[in-house]
Amino acid sequence: MNKPVTVLFSAAWFLMSVITILPNTLPADELPARPRLVLQITVDALRGDLPERFSRHYGDGGWRYLLDNGTHYTNAHYQHANTETIVGHASLATGAYPADHGMVANVWLDRAEGVLHYNIEDPRHRLLTTGGGVDKSREIDPTQRTARSDGRSPAAIRVSTFGDELYSSTGGRAKVFGVSVKDRGAVSMAGHAGKAFWFSKATGQFVTSDYYYDRYPEWVVQWNAKKHPQRYAGTQWKLTGKAPEYLFGDADDRSWETDFPGWGRTFPHAYGPGDGKYYTTFLTLSPAGDELTLDFAKALVENEAIGQDSVTDYLAISFSSTDYINHLFGPSSLEAEENQRRLDRTLAELLRFIDAKVGLAHTLIVLSGDHGSPEVPGYLEALGIGAGYVEPEAFDRQPALDALKKQFGLGKELIETYFHPYLYLNRELIRKKGLDPGEVERAVAAELVRFPGVSLAVSSHALLEGDVPDTWQMRAVLRNHDPDRSGDIYLVFAPQTFIRDFDGLSVAATHGSPWRYDTHVPVIFVGSGLGSARIARPVTPYDIAPTLSAYLGISPPSGASGHPLTEVLK
Ligand SMILES: [Zn+2]
Repeated sequence: MNKPVTVLFSAAWFLMSVITILPNTLPADELPARPRLVLQITVDALRGDLPERFSRHYGDGGWRYLLDNGTHYTNAHYQHANTETIVGHASLATGAYPADHGMVANVWLDRAEGVLHYNIEDPRHRLLTTGGGVDKSREIDPTQRTARSDGRSPAAIRVSTFGDELYSSTGGRAKVFGVSVKDRGAVSMAGHAGKAFWFSKATGQFVTSDYYYDRYPEWVVQWNAKKHPQRYAGTQWKLTGKAPEYLFGDADDRSWETDFPGWGRTFPHAYGPGDGKYYTTFLTLSPAGDELTLDFAKALVENEAIGQDSVTDYLAISFSSTDYINHLFGPSSLEAEENQRRLDRTLAELLRFIDAKVGLAHTLIVLSGDHGSPEVPGYLEALGIGAGYVEPEAFDRQPALDALKKQFGLGKELIETYFHPYLYLNRELIRKKGLDPGEVERAVAAELVRFPGVSLAVSSHALLEGDVPDTWQMRAVLRNHDPDRSGDIYLVFAPQTFIRDFDGLSVAATHGSPWRYDTHVPVIFVGSGLGSARIARPVTPYDIAPTLSAYLGISPPSGASGHPLTEVLK
């Protein structure tokens, strides 16, 4: 009588082992209540009010689906001072402040090497495509000018990301991917464990580095071989509606908009020939950049079998067009309005595709922005609201600073460089002269704050020694401080006051301030069981990664400061 019982037990053990090894074989009703896919959508420079501002243009399935079915936080603000792209993306990925994740600026001065360093640059990990990192149109993206090599990796991100934690908690079975036009929009979100692909303007292809792969997966080779970006050659970015349908329908030609050579200030914007010098740049300055990102992401979902089993996968897609368009034309422009209309169609197609391949019922979606977007000074001035530009390069020529230099016995070499948002002093010179670096810093900051257009000039010594007033702006500067990477003086310009000149090219507006237009982003969660709600309590984008972790019952990223959002978890 004993034998059959033993056999039965053995069979049970065997079955349990199989179940443990192969979670896919669990019957559906025993599956843990986990989504098959976490889809994180980031819209670069999507200020918090923008999704609803242009809602007159929305069809079904895109913004309407997200806004009508989502838990929508309307009062989400970043709490760090330097609201730039890598800073925001890394904060979304890690739930951490820049002081902890280390991505304090798009560019910082590498003190050891004495050169400017582009955030995710890593010469050890070269692009798999030769020449893919050389950008023919660097003047439109000043951060790219500083990259010395085409190598990219997430090595400079000091803490783990949500994707890292998901990967680790599943024994490496979760698939983790980041896709964007911008390298920093993809690498940050993919984290250390995931894989990243981004658009190379130099080659017109989606590329990656040898940090991720030894060679391209076959499906990437095939996607690139189809030359999708060429489908826009000889065509134009046109309005898809009639002028009266638009809030800015009678305001296309505005003097304050950027007149980028060949692209112009008014519709239609011509892409020109497919081999034109700025052709691939024009793609990124229009909805085409987002459409290509979507196309590539669809191929990725299909070929990497994303969301096809009970192990939750993670796909982060960062859409960059909104940012480029806001820089050139401002968020209150016909271009920005038409772009939102087209982004709506892009989102609708993404969600339709995910529904067909994975099922929206099995997908947890979260959408946010990496920073907000300022209005263009010309637009504000026309409405009677004060605004303007500031030239930090000219600060060094101010007589007040000359007096200071004389006082300390220093020359014009006192200031090593300025790169937003930090002024870097010549520490070696200060040391050689036997001066107290903290004293010099404080003295220079005290002069700078008196210059027109400067709101705060914060000495890093004073900041770390607690010798600054306890205001929300100072706390934002402190949350931005990394001892190795931050400069000596943090400059905050006055509200509605911007740096304009990027290497001879004037862009209409730049984000990167602690002011509310730059910190405000939407946070929208949509998933099965999640109701529709519009929540105005203050939350932060740092809450997103801890919320995703809590939703899945896994560890939050190692440096996370945010808190799980209770409305999403109940
Ligand atoms: Zn950005």
